[in-house]
Amino acid sequence: MIRVIVVSLVLLFLLTHSFAQNKLNVVVSFYPIYDFTKNIGGEKINIITLIPFGVEPHDWEPTPKDISKILNADLFIYNGAGLEPWAERLLKDAKNKNLITIDMYKSISAKGDDPHIWLDPVLVKSQLRVIRDALIKLDPKNRLYYEVNYKSYLKKVETLDKEIKDTLSRCKKRVFVTSHNAFSRFASRYGLIQIPVTGISPEAEPNPRDLVEVTKIIKENKIGYIFTEPLISPKLAESISRETGVKILLLDPIEGLSKDDVKAGKDYLSKMRENLGNLKLALGYE
Ligand SMILES: [Zn+2]
Repeated sequence: MIRVIVVSLVLLFLLTHSFAQNKLNVVVSFYPIYDFTKNIGGEKINIITLIPFGVEPHDWEPTPKDISKILNADLFIYNGAGLEPWAERLLKDAKNKNLITIDMYKSISAKGDDPHIWLDPVLVKSQLRVIRDALIKLDPKNRLYYEVNYKSYLKKVETLDKEIKDTLSRCKKRVFVTSHNAFSRFASRYGLIQIPVTGISPEAEPNPRDLVEVTKIIKENKIGYIFTEPLISPKLAESISRETGVKILLLDPIEGLSKDDVKAGKDYLSKMRENLGNLKLALGYE
C-alpha cells in the first residue's frame, strides 16, 4: 500500500513537474500583445490575456484573481506608457522575484507619450524582437522554434507595413477624424494628420469648443467620412454626422477583439487591413 502511494506521488510529481517545465506560463495585459506573443510562442507557451477581448482597456482594473495569475507566471508583458496604470502599481510591490516583466513601451524605447504603439507596424517589429528575446532567455532549448516563428511573423508585419505605405501614398487626402486619440503614431508613420474628437481615453467627453473646431476642420478639408470605433458608443460620431452630413466608418484601435471578430477568426493583421480599407475610402484612393 505504502509503495503504491509512494509510486503515485512520484508519478504525480513527475507529471506536474514536467508540465511546468514543458511550457512557459506567459501572462499579457491585452489583445495585441497576446497576438504577437502567441505567434512567436506557439504551442510552447501557455498564454493568458488579462483584459478580456471586447473590453476597452483604458479603464480596466484587475481582480485579486488576475493579480495572482500575474504573480504566478514566468513572464508578464504589458504595454506601458500609462495604458495599464494598475500594472505599474502592482509590480512595485510584487513578491515573485522570478517573474520576468516587460514594459513594452520602455523596452522598445518608444518616443513621445502616446501609448498606442501597436498601431505602428514599424514599432511592432521591435516588439516582436523583444518578445522573441524574452522567450529564448526563459526557454533556451526552444530557441530555434521561437526564431522560426519570429521570422515568419516578422515577414507578415513587413508586408503589412509596405501595403499600408503603398496604399496611403495613392490617396488624395491626408486628414482623418477619429473618436479617441489612438492613431497619432499611425498617422505620423504614414504622413497623415489625425484629428481626434476626444483625448487619449475613449471615455473622455469632448468639450463643445472642440466639437466646433472639429466641425470647422471637416468643412474646410471637405471631409466626407469620420471614424468611430467598435468598443465605444457611436453617439458622438452620430451627432457630428448629423451636424455636418459626413458618413461614419469604423477605424479599430485594436485594443480588443469583439466576440464577432473572434468567431470570424480575425486577428491583428486582418484588423489592420480592414482599417486600411476604410481609410482608402475616407482618403480618396485613386
Ligand atoms: Zn486607446
